Amino acid sequence: MTDFKVCSNVPEYFGSCVFSEELMKTKLPKNVYKAWMKTKNTGCPLDPDAADVIASVMKEWAVENGATHYTHWFFPMTGISAEKHDSFISPVGGGQVIMEFSGKELIKGEPDASSFPSGGLRATYEARGYTAWDPTSPAFIHDNSLYIPTAFCSYTGEILDKKTPLLRSMDVISEQALRILRLFGNTTARRVTTTVGPEQEYFLVDKKLYDKRRDLIFAGRTLFGAKAPKGQELEDHYFGAIKERVSCYMKDLDRELWKLGIYAKTKHNEVAPAQHEFAPIFTASNIAADQNALALVVMKKIALRHGLVCLVHEKPFAGVNGSGKHNNWSIATNEGLNLLDPGKSPKDNILFLTFLVAIIKAIDEYADLLRLSVASAGNDHRLGANEAPPAVISIFLGEELQKICDALETGEMIKENSNSEFVIGVDALPNFPKDTTDRNRTSPFAFTGNKFEFRMLGSSDEISCTNMMLNTTVAYVLKEFADKLEGSSSFKSDLNTLLKGEYIAHKRVIFNGNGYDEEWLAEAARRGLPNRPTTVEAVAEYPAPKNIKIFEEFKVLTRTEIESRTEILLENYSKVLNIEALTMVDMARKQILPAGFCFSEKLAKAINAKVKADIPADAEKFVAAKVSALNTAILSGIEKLEDTLLKAKDAGDTLAVASFYRSDVFCAMQELRAAADDLETITPEEIWPYPTYADLLFNV
Ligand code: ADP
Ligand code: MG
Repeated sequence: MTDFKVCSNVPEYFGSCVFSEELMKTKLPKNVYKAWMKTKNTGCPLDPDAADVIASVMKEWAVENGATHYTHWFFPMTGISAEKHDSFISPVGGGQVIMEFSGKELIKGEPDASSFPSGGLRATYEARGYTAWDPTSPAFIHDNSLYIPTAFCSYTGEILDKKTPLLRSMDVISEQALRILRLFGNTTARRVTTTVGPEQEYFLVDKKLYDKRRDLIFAGRTLFGAKAPKGQELEDHYFGAIKERVSCYMKDLDRELWKLGIYAKTKHNEVAPAQHEFAPIFTASNIAADQNALALVVMKKIALRHGLVCLVHEKPFAGVNGSGKHNNWSIATNEGLNLLDPGKSPKDNILFLTFLVAIIKAIDEYADLLRLSVASAGNDHRLGANEAPPAVISIFLGEELQKICDALETGEMIKENSNSEFVIGVDALPNFPKDTTDRNRTSPFAFTGNKFEFRMLGSSDEISCTNMMLNTTVAYVLKEFADKLEGSSSFKSDLNTLLKGEYIAHKRVIFNGNGYDEEWLAEAARRGLPNRPTTVEAVAEYPAPKNIKIFEEFKVLTRTEIESRTEILLENYSKVLNIEALTMVDMARKQILPAGFCFSEKLAKAINAKVKADIPADAEKFVAAKVSALNTAILSGIEKLEDTLLKAKDAGDTLAVASFYRSDVFCAMQELRAAADDLETITPEEIWPYPTYADLLFNV
């Protein structure tokens, strides 16, 4: 248990496990620090001598702080981070070692790439891959290893990870946003950065109970389970008092995250029983992505210390809310100007409106990309299930901002006065208080005062893909705007025409109503907005020509890389469903059916005894008939599911296989589950082979 005093001394130990910019400044020779800053800010390669010095200083600090190993930490397409640990030791003769770490080792690693998914990109005989240091994300110590955040590519240069495209997309949006800023007379900003604050939901369950559920162990979610008598209907968990055991976990978690330099800020109980949330203060998107991935690792690790298991699956339990992640996203200059803040002066307001219209256009034109960035087998259970936004992408602006956009449409908003100065239809845009912009919780993409909140992510998603999509698509529209306006001889009137035209063309994506309403789906269809309810349909759109065009033009991803990513996502979907289905078969055959038979036998004995004693056994007979029918249903459910799984392999190409899993395998799984859950509701507790929903959800 954590000492309260240790906890409260946060500034003293915050970031103590991080090789921060501040540390580098104090520990590195000036010229080396400068060389590193240049690499960090411009992306130019680091001079090998400087790299050697940094590596040696880094190692010294790491060893002083308990590290014996280093690892290039990267994000392959598996969906979870990867690490291979090498110790610092180097023999010096006489059976002695010293601790060594060179610049070469810092900058580049060469892990075998053959076992990471490449979607057909890399033939196995070219299995070499390499990892390259991302100097913009700080190294840190975790579990006695120095972690060096890195990008991961094949030797022939194809990208095999999620970090590289995110970094590229950040460069691209910076470049295009700066062009817009220059048009508005800003000559001083040097870099524009997208910022992200991801809110993270999760469940905590007791480890002893977890260990008895093969579905939780293999699939991360319950594949069977009848509803508990109580769910979330009383709405008594959200923001409720945090129980002692959970509170101890949260304190411990905060402390670990703070040591790792993660700005853990908010924690509370969520809607479902046993569900909680943690949110950090926002930071640059690549760092936010690294830190969110790290936080997921730490959340799971700390839970074990408390005899708990942290579940980050999107839908661990049927019938209560699943877990998601809210990606709060904004754009700011290196001078601290938030470009999604409406600002106080008309000049700032018009800049804001320009970015706003660009975002509206980007979301409308590339809704498919945003949708597929959150597509996964797990998230399919949430989107459109009245606990998360529907699978249709729309934007919520809120009343105030909507009024302003309406005025933009009628031409009342941006005008020129007689001195041909820009004036705005109102004195200045209002400041948007959070409580009026944030009321709508059912929108996938909501303006919340000075940022947009994208609410469709699944809790286990890596946020890099979503942010890569946001950055690239918005950058593309900013580029279109800049291309049109840079050559303009009458900037103001051209800007006005452009914003008005684009707003009218893309306002169909704006929806301020209730996103959970059935009627909205019909309305969205009338507006021609794409609705892709499942992963398979969503992912299939990745390689559309319009999408390849923007990624290739900006050199964020090549056509081949996009095609390979599509393959990987679809394959992954099929694999997840296959594991789930096999786990169901295993549990049903070895645990559920035997329980059903055991109950049948008990009933039969009871009936026999009663008949012998000439006592009516109507109730027993009634239940016995029910149990017997359910046993039969379960058995045929198992057999059908097994048959269906056999057919899946012959369904055709990757897309056809994934579609088959979605349609046929998924249905067979549901049928088997329904019968098993029915049996659970009538079977005595002492016979039932694994902990129930009531045990799991109300035990911590
Ligand atoms: P909610 O009402 O959605 O639960 P919270 O205050 O819990 O809101 O979370 C809001 C998140 O948005 C926090 O992570 C916060 O740091 C983040 N955020 C605030 N401003 C920005 C910004 N400019 N860019 C990105 N994220 C931001
Ligand atoms: Mg939120």
